[in-house]
Amino acid sequence: MPEVRKEAAHRRAHGYGQTGSAASGRAAMRAAVPDPIGPAGWAGVPHVLRIDTGRAGPHLVVNALTHGNEVCGLAALRAVLRRRKALLRGVVTLVAANPAAHRRHDPAMPQSGRFIDEDLNRLWARARLRGPEHNAELDRARALAPIYRSADILLDIHSMATGGPPLLMFHPTRAADRLLARLPRDHHRIRFAAPIHTGRLLVEQPGLLGRQDKAAFVVECGRHGTRATDAYAVRITLALLRAAGMLRARASGPVRGVWQDVTALRMVRARSDAFRFGRPLAGFERVAEGEIYAHDGMRPLRAPFGPCILLLPRLAPKRGGEAVILALPTRRKPV
Ligand SMILES: [Zn+2]
Repeated sequence: MPEVRKEAAHRRAHGYGQTGSAASGRAAMRAAVPDPIGPAGWAGVPHVLRIDTGRAGPHLVVNALTHGNEVCGLAALRAVLRRRKALLRGVVTLVAANPAAHRRHDPAMPQSGRFIDEDLNRLWARARLRGPEHNAELDRARALAPIYRSADILLDIHSMATGGPPLLMFHPTRAADRLLARLPRDHHRIRFAAPIHTGRLLVEQPGLLGRQDKAAFVVECGRHGTRATDAYAVRITLALLRAAGMLRARASGPVRGVWQDVTALRMVRARSDAFRFGRPLAGFERVAEGEIYAHDGMRPLRAPFGPCILLLPRLAPKRGGEAVILALPTRRKPV
């Protein structure tokens, strides 16, 4: 089948591409990618499913729908469910993190249904989790936190507005390095030298960040809502289960592509509503020290070090918002 028709068939099969009238709004909600684990829940927390092999081993959490519009994680949950009998050891917990936001996702509008009150991937600072405030995402985060905290390995699955090759992001730990050494190289790797986002990420929550015996990964699988993105979400999830000895290992050859290892040092935030890059960026562009890579209003922004690698550029950052991450090539021998 030609690529375009395959994509169209895929989108129909998963309920993408319902267009935007009010009537089809309901249809889109019904047709939106179903959450394969359902609302029943585990330990009183809905949309969580625990698969216990009964044999000693790690606790691995596969986390989908941190952003309600990023549906590729649901393909990964389905893939694990299909293999539940093949799991060799340990416990796998499947989580649909923000199904309430996902129910508001209209597949015709890729950014719709991302969250209800605030970004579920920026609120994991201890002070916020323990604070007095309530909203849809904070309350869900408080319910899910004990599950994430009990994970030895966490995979938080995302997709991107801008597309591009898959990225695996993490804070380096001994446990993460052990797993990375056993994962096929079919993605770029971004190490965080320290938390740099506005608000803590899900993988940076108390009980995970700084624990050398734990490995917490964010994967960006590709552009929102495409077949290739779903396929990568499945591939990295199964590869991680294999790397952890929880699924039978499979030989995997090298994957074509030039895969980079970089260390993220700094988040650049926009100070104006007129933040513009010098040229359209896809991510991983290199600029020399002192080179102008963007203008924030009238202010030119120069690379503070070199080679400076520009990561995850936002399409149109607003004042105060995250604009781009500055990174260096990882110095240590990449794994
Ligand atoms: Zn996301």
